[in-house]
Amino acid sequence: MDVPDFRIGLGHDTHRLVAGRELWLGGVRIEFEKGLLGHSDADILLHALTDAVLGAAGLGDIGDAFPDTDPAYAGIDSSLLFARSLERVRELGWTLVNVDCTIFAQRPKLVPFKLQIRQRLAELVQLPLDCVNMKAKTGEHVGPIGREEAMSADAIVLLRRAVK
Ligand code: MG
Repeated sequence: MDVPDFRIGLGHDTHRLVAGRELWLGGVRIEFEKGLLGHSDADILLHALTDAVLGAAGLGDIGDAFPDTDPAYAGIDSSLLFARSLERVRELGWTLVNVDCTIFAQRPKLVPFKLQIRQRLAELVQLPLDCVNMKAKTGEHVGPIGREEAMSADAIVLLRRAVK
C-alpha cells in the first residue's frame, strides 16, 4: 500500500475558568484575575496542540498518554507534556510542518499576548514563526465562553515524513 507522506491532526480542549488559579496559555503566564481549573497547569492551548500532534501520528490523545488520575502530572507544566508527545511523534519518523490554533476567551483581551504566545509555541515546536499561527476569538458574551465560565482552544497540525 502506498502510504502518503503527510498527516493532519486536530485537537480541542476546554477548561473551566475559576478564581485562585494562574492562567497559562500556550506556555505563557497571562496576568488575569482568574485561571483555568485542571489537574495540570490546565493550559488549553498546549493540550489542544498535544492532541493534534498525537492524533496526526495515530497515537490517541493526551488522556491516554498522561492520565489525569496520575499524581505525577498534578500541576505539571503542559509544555513538558507537549515536548514528550512531540518526541514520540518524531521517533516514529514524523516532522512537524506547521501549526495553526485558536483560543476562545471572552477576557482578557489576548491581542497584547499573541506574539509572545506564538514565539513560545515556535520555540516548543522548533519551527520558524511563520509556521506557527495563533488566533484569538471572544465568545460574543454568550455561552460558557462568553459568560467567562470557560476557555477553549482548537489546534491543527501537519506532519510530513522526515527525510532519512
Ligand atoms: Mg486539558
